[in-house]
Amino acid sequence: MAAGRERLYLFDTTLRDGAQTNGVDFTLTDKLAITRMLDDLGIDYVEGGYPGANPADTQLFAEPRMLRTTFTAFGMTRRPGRSTSNDPGLAALLEAKADAICFVAKSWDYHVRVALETTLEENLASIRDSVKAALAKGREVLLDCEHFFDGYKANPQYALACAKAAYEAGARWVVLCDTNGGALPHEVEAIVREVVKHIPGGNVGIHAHNDTEQAVANSFAAVRAGARQIQGTLNGLGERCGNANLVSIIPTLKLKPEYAEVFEIGVSDEQLKKLSHTSHELDERLNRSPNRHAPYVGESAFATKAGIHASAIMKEPATYEHVAPDAVGNKRKLLVSDQAGRSNVLAELERIGIAVDRNDPRVGRLLDVVKEREAIGYAYETADASFELLARRMLGTVPKFFDVTYFDVKVEQRAQNGHGQGTGPEVLTTAVVKVKVGNETFINAAEGNGPVNALDVALRKDLGKFQKFIAGLKLTDYRVRILNSGTEAVTRVLIESEDETGEHWTTIGVSPNIIDASFQALMDSIVYKLVRSGAPA
Ligand SMILES: [Zn+2]
Repeated sequence: MAAGRERLYLFDTTLRDGAQTNGVDFTLTDKLAITRMLDDLGIDYVEGGYPGANPADTQLFAEPRMLRTTFTAFGMTRRPGRSTSNDPGLAALLEAKADAICFVAKSWDYHVRVALETTLEENLASIRDSVKAALAKGREVLLDCEHFFDGYKANPQYALACAKAAYEAGARWVVLCDTNGGALPHEVEAIVREVVKHIPGGNVGIHAHNDTEQAVANSFAAVRAGARQIQGTLNGLGERCGNANLVSIIPTLKLKPEYAEVFEIGVSDEQLKKLSHTSHELDERLNRSPNRHAPYVGESAFATKAGIHASAIMKEPATYEHVAPDAVGNKRKLLVSDQAGRSNVLAELERIGIAVDRNDPRVGRLLDVVKEREAIGYAYETADASFELLARRMLGTVPKFFDVTYFDVKVEQRAQNGHGQGTGPEVLTTAVVKVKVGNETFINAAEGNGPVNALDVALRKDLGKFQKFIAGLKLTDYRVRILNSGTEAVTRVLIESEDETGEHWTTIGVSPNIIDASFQALMDSIVYKLVRSGAPA
């Protein structure tokens, strides 16, 4: 079957369209790192940005590159009424060190007249001239037909004329854009079927936005109708509701026989296994918490809660999973919760590599402790690392690395020296922690940005012989929730950590006191890291 498969191309626009996301601001370093991630993943085209439009993008295109991907510059076709040799914007684009140029042009007659204030014929001439100018520079050329679907509904002849002008002038790809994101899958499929009667499907791409949450479905609708390039972004980044999410599209193309048997993409099975990591790495770079419920790559994508399902999954995973989690670098997860039974605990122990007999009485005791703790606010289904430590402690395999014999956190408010400057009083936080490691005692003091941060910095400042094992440990997220159970409120703290290998884990603390709850979660995170690193007791 493999020999006869048709090539389908993936085009990533995270760095250009994705950079329009509210709250996202890529630095040059971010852009270079994300380009490498996309290249490693096997994406055919990476759109870097808009050279000439801002200094970071101009510099990005000046950087030396060693990439397999086709690095693409984005920009506008020549302005109406100018020649290609007399348009500074176009000149910057043509000069950029790019393998390909993706032009954007209007294809909705209404926009040509109102927004561009030019004639329909001049817009077609601008498309033809720009495509030819880029070809003359030796670039591969793509043309994004802006508002193509809305334009087609308003004036199909003109929308098609724009697409044909680009194709006939030599563009490798004519990309049909649902710029406002309002098109529906059956409309996309019907319109693309018409377009491929005039332009071969092997030269047609789809660029969908997610305003009706159907950007992924619209991309597949276009492919079914004959399009052979999909444009999208990592994690569906993009303005408003985002672009088509390549992280969902790629595994569907690779793992669903309907597509996998017919199409070949640049992402190998090995590269597919990096997908979950790539998705989380981007979130990390953007300082966002990954979406737990993201298809394929989310932490909950292969999580099962009920006890009866858990025992079935242990016998035959395929019974409750649409694909194998490890194909996309994700993990099966059986949630340990108060409604779960013994089989959940056993499966979770097996997943984390703790061998224990099914009838071992310690399993029953562990389940009892989990239930007791969940009743007072612990949530082990989220805090996988704290669960692992609890289990390992009950089975007697966590060394006593160190003891915290004392800690003190102080928050002080002081008036600022320069009064009347409108800066308000200064708040200083300091923490002191006394740690016993073997026969040595360390007294660590630190200032912090708030009590939890001060405590964290002091705790990790000097752990003696264990310090080298926690050097790469980083806290990436801190979440606090007040739970009102019974008469008194308790605080639940969840801390997410990461290490130098890219591994992520979550720990938990529960207490009526937020500092104590945070301390428990911090301690678990450090001890978990020491266990993982194989630190000698
Ligand atoms: Zn777009």
